[in-house]
Amino acid sequence: MEEWKGQTIVVLGLARSGVAVARLLFHLGAKVTVNDRKPRAESPEAEELENLGIPVICGEHPENLIHEGVDLLVKNPGIPYSASPVQQALVYGIPVVTEVEIAYRVASSPIIGITGSNGKTTTTTLVGRMLKKGKVPSVVAGNIGRALAEVAPELKANEWLVAELSSFQLKGVQTFRPRIGALLNIVPAHMDYHGDLNDYTASKEKLFSNQQPSDIAVLNWDSPECRSVAKKIKAQILWFSRHEPVDQGIYFAEGRVMVKMANDAEAWELMPVSDIHMPGVHQENGLAAAAIALAAGCPKEAIRQELATFTGVEHRLEFVGVKRGARWYNDSKATNAKATIAAIESFHEPVVLIAGGLDRGVDFRECIPAFRKLKGIVAYGEAADVLLARAKDAGIPEQEQYHARRVEEAVFAAANLVQSGDVALLSPACASWDQHTSFEERGSIFKQAVHIL
Ligand code: ADP
Repeated sequence: MEEWKGQTIVVLGLARSGVAVARLLFHLGAKVTVNDRKPRAESPEAEELENLGIPVICGEHPENLIHEGVDLLVKNPGIPYSASPVQQALVYGIPVVTEVEIAYRVASSPIIGITGSNGKTTTTTLVGRMLKKGKVPSVVAGNIGRALAEVAPELKANEWLVAELSSFQLKGVQTFRPRIGALLNIVPAHMDYHGDLNDYTASKEKLFSNQQPSDIAVLNWDSPECRSVAKKIKAQILWFSRHEPVDQGIYFAEGRVMVKMANDAEAWELMPVSDIHMPGVHQENGLAAAAIALAAGCPKEAIRQELATFTGVEHRLEFVGVKRGARWYNDSKATNAKATIAAIESFHEPVVLIAGGLDRGVDFRECIPAFRKLKGIVAYGEAADVLLARAKDAGIPEQEQYHARRVEEAVFAAANLVQSGDVALLSPACASWDQHTSFEERGSIFKQAVHIL
């Protein structure tokens, strides 16, 4: 790649993707400097890069890091645009991109990019499984698996790169053009980073902005936000819908999963809906994954088999087991109200909800209609009081409410509220950081507590 030979490039943020992109650009002949605000002692990756001869500056953003001679700034997606080196780069007119842009320019293979506010990991995982089962050459990378910049140079021309893409990553692309781009849904999120919904939506739209009519865009017909994004898309659109037939794409009708692709004169049945074992809203991810896989040339049978056997990714409406006659689910990844509402609405059975965690000052008023469907609620952690206030607003009887301190205690309390045939659901609507290091830790503690019931 001549493109970066001799160029002066600053990589901002170490982490997995920063290391991968620094190595890649260095090997392509760029003069790379890496900078991270974290102290040296917390940056074990620095040594590996320094051994290669890449200078790494830790502990601060030095004043002279960005200057007129810098050709490109590659920033970690999580670093805000308000960070001083990013601001300086923008003032100098230096392009600011994320690893996705670099990986795209290096990869010789077609890319499947999957974005949305909720469901990215589930959908990306499922697409990877379908393509593998269908023997379609592919690699899942990015948030799942290896870093994009690590995988990109190794890909063969006929091998799909399947990437889960966040709004943070997409905000920093320029020429990125996925052969297949999928947008699952848009609900307000990450406003602290994006500032407003327009910036958030515009970042998601960048998935499609370089696509051409020969490319494919997969979108959710049931989402008004997706329909409005569709108006700007040049690529051929495949819709998915759980509620009504679509002109082109995949949908549920009369208990059947129906497909109509561009070449099909008539819609055809893929499988009965009852053969899909993902709960409620996750079926949207199933439909999206099937549309993507079909567009990527995956055989129907492989898609059918995966839809019939996939039960979800760990911590995302993951089925844990049956205890006290109730089915227990771990949805620890639900760190916002919308995800919890979607989880509650995924069940027809009476639900006892376990929710709580870090208090970010959210009032949870939008949860009231969903809370009306609950049989009971156990709230814990910092946000317990406000969640119980909303439970009261929703009319949940006092004897069906419980204030716990920790998730383990919440499990025991919920066990006393459930009856045979109910669902007990951990879907916290909050981040876990008041008591746990991650949502994974919270979900694992929940599962252990359920298993010992
Ligand atoms: P992401 O990678 O976008 O965060 P995940 O697949 O990890 O998405 O799921 C995150 C949370 O959102 C989980 O609580 C999950 O149950 C919920 N969720 C998954 N898919 C959807 C969807 N299509 N609509 C609404 N919520 C969803």
